[in-house]
Amino acid sequence: MKAEIIAVGTELLLGQIANTNAQFLSQKLAELGINVYFHTVVGDNYERLLFVIRQAAARSDLVIFTGGLGPTQDDMTKETVAAHLAVSLVTDHAAMEKIASFYAQRGITMSENNRKQALVLENSTVFPNDHGMAPGMAVTHDGTTYVLLPGPPSELYPMVDRYVIPYLTSLLPAKQVFHSRVLRFFGIGESALEERLLDLIERQSNPTIAPYAKEFEVTLRLTARAESVEKAEALISPVEAEIKHRVGEYVYGEGETSLHEVFVNRLLQQQVTVSCAESCTGGSLAAAITSVPGSSAVFRGGIVCYSNEVKQHLLHVSPSLLQTDGAVSESAARELAEQVRLICGTTVGISVTGVAGPAPLEGKPVGLVYIGIAVEGLPTLVKQLKLAGRRQAIIGRAAKFAMFYALQRLKER
Ligand code: ATP
Ligand code: MG
Repeated sequence: MKAEIIAVGTELLLGQIANTNAQFLSQKLAELGINVYFHTVVGDNYERLLFVIRQAAARSDLVIFTGGLGPTQDDMTKETVAAHLAVSLVTDHAAMEKIASFYAQRGITMSENNRKQALVLENSTVFPNDHGMAPGMAVTHDGTTYVLLPGPPSELYPMVDRYVIPYLTSLLPAKQVFHSRVLRFFGIGESALEERLLDLIERQSNPTIAPYAKEFEVTLRLTARAESVEKAEALISPVEAEIKHRVGEYVYGEGETSLHEVFVNRLLQQQVTVSCAESCTGGSLAAAITSVPGSSAVFRGGIVCYSNEVKQHLLHVSPSLLQTDGAVSESAARELAEQVRLICGTTVGISVTGVAGPAPLEGKPVGLVYIGIAVEGLPTLVKQLKLAGRRQAIIGRAAKFAMFYALQRLKER
């Protein structure tokens, strides 16, 4: 099946928003094994939209639209597709009721253009909008399936997951499932990872192995095609085992998760508490930890010790140490981690001190970071990092390294 995505909206052409819907849809279609050959962005303009619809109809089996299903004049996706197919728009009663009750509840009179949102292409499959007013829809004409979806990601994402994917799966030939497993890596770059797995990546076609880097992490998606999920799993398992054999020390989690979530869950599971003393990360580490629901059971608190005064007075780092070794040093990281652990009364104390840039500090280069991990009953560990990148990247990476090292250390406990 050849697919393409048409994003409708002048704000996309003006660069006011990025076409993240197309990215999301492409990822979903790839998981289904549907090839996407084109992404088009077109403004809210009838003639130009009609032009791209005709072009798409001639070359694709599946055309997915996002945007322009709303109530206003500039929302014209349905109308234009209807004109292209020479079909009418009819009222979807479920959608109409939802819109009417929304207005009734708020005591506002509904305007005529709100009724427009309940219109769908005749004989289409309607996808309810669980987070908004305008339903999505799909219709097949002359061998091409047209799927129309709302623009707001908050409406589009759940609609795709809940209704569109099952619908598209039903269109696919033969009973084939595409099943993926995602491995999450930290502490190894995308190219280094690829290099160590190159022969596997090149040799494998089922499962396919696709690396992907984002937010200082690398993700590896293993996707297998088979008659059933069990059979797909069976194809994935040996490849996964080989990958873990080679680079398993960098795997921190699997599936839909994040480093901070894995870290907090580990603390919860081991029933241990954590605190942190942050210099160069300025609270990013604490923010990452507290973004995880349930973190209150394990996170006691942290001190942002940006200045030497705070390191000295609140965290009792000796002035002579700060004088001789400096704040960005192995010994300072050690002291900070141990002190914050004692002061907060936690099982684990983490410290981060480094030079985020852009200028060197204490004669130390940008990117030099020390991370201290003090764990009750274990010798304190200090890791030195030489991070590349700009200020924000150094801060982001340092916070992640802190969690990664603490996670590793907890496994030894
Ligand atoms: P509404 O009922 O809100 O008008 P709509 O289906 O008519 O929804 P649009 O008017 O095209 O959709 O877009 C509404 C908003 O959705 C945009 O302002 C933008 O924030 C977001 N949006 C639209 N298209 C995209 C896209 N391709 N990628 C990401 N966000 C988008
Ligand atoms: Mg709109």
